[in-house]
Amino acid sequence: MLQYAKLERYEGNEALFEMVNMSIVSTYDGEPLHIHAEGLRGTGKTTIMRKAQDILPTIKRIKGCIYNCDPEEPHCPHHRGLSKQEIVDLGIEEIPMPFLEISHSAKVGTVAGSIDLEKLTDGRNPEARLLPGLIPQAHRGILFIDEINRLADTAPEITDILLDLMGSKPGHLQIEEAGLPVVHLKVIVSVWAASNPDEDPGPLEEIRRQLSDRFDMVCYMGRPTSMDVLSKMLKENFHTNKIDADRDQNNVMDVEKQHQEYTEAILRSAELYNQADIPDFVRNYIARLYVKHNLESIRAIEAMQQGAVLYSIIKDRDQVSINDVNRMLPLILKHRINAETLIRVINDVDGKGGKENIFSTVNKKITSKPDQPEETDYLKSVGRF
Ligand SMILES: [Zn+2]
Repeated sequence: MLQYAKLERYEGNEALFEMVNMSIVSTYDGEPLHIHAEGLRGTGKTTIMRKAQDILPTIKRIKGCIYNCDPEEPHCPHHRGLSKQEIVDLGIEEIPMPFLEISHSAKVGTVAGSIDLEKLTDGRNPEARLLPGLIPQAHRGILFIDEINRLADTAPEITDILLDLMGSKPGHLQIEEAGLPVVHLKVIVSVWAASNPDEDPGPLEEIRRQLSDRFDMVCYMGRPTSMDVLSKMLKENFHTNKIDADRDQNNVMDVEKQHQEYTEAILRSAELYNQADIPDFVRNYIARLYVKHNLESIRAIEAMQQGAVLYSIIKDRDQVSINDVNRMLPLILKHRINAETLIRVINDVDGKGGKENIFSTVNKKITSKPDQPEETDYLKSVGRF
């Protein structure tokens, strides 16, 4: 399978690459950004999300801590409250940022945590101890769920755990097991999900609206339509099936170098995001959108703020602008408000921030301007109108 650097980028999937990038940066800084890619089968949405593992930075944790305790801020039942010296004595190790996946057959115990049977049945020293599930083990990383609409339909108890996890930033997890005290954990985990809204059981916002609202951003993936892109994809796939040792060796080195560059860019962005602030006029602008259009979801405007700053950083801009907020609107609002309200918001912001008609392709009443290809392509890629 192709590696991340080799994945073809085209206007229909660019928004997902950007969301993935922003979410990694934010998660690295301890602030989850939950993202959801919707689209037809074969658009490559799950491939992009899974392959992002190739570019994840490393994190430092207390040696061997399955909960990924940050040495600066230990939170797990074994290490919270330890002194600096005690942590130094335990040792610190570097591991790849976690990327774990919840499958459809997962049980509550696998996802949250269960009693450690091995410890309990240890003949010499039986002990009731918690075995952390996927969520606590994904602390400071990513939790991926494919076909989240199906999971929401068939596993309401896991959906409830996700609602709790994604209800605040950082998230919260409560693990209850008979015979053990209830454990409360703070967890920094970004949930990445994918789904096909055109297949059973339908779009997530219709199955479990609350869970849909927990996603900061949703993008709709289109299929590649350009002949150039399709031809390049064919070429890449052709070579992956061909035996050519020298070329493969060069390829591996090129790809690894590119992955390293992506990771370094993520670390640079994370450094900037850590210190970033948002000017008052941008914050006021977001507040005005909320009031004027009766947007209801506070999560939505929080996502606008977080998203706009992250977007300005990954695009190497010195300062976040109103344009960056506008750019985030389709991703943040499409799953939260109806199409008419969205068009109204888009019309209202259209032309604000010094650029004209940036949402012209969303509102089909206005013709797109050919001299602004970047904006219009982007909007085509996120819109499902
Ligand atoms: Zn720990």
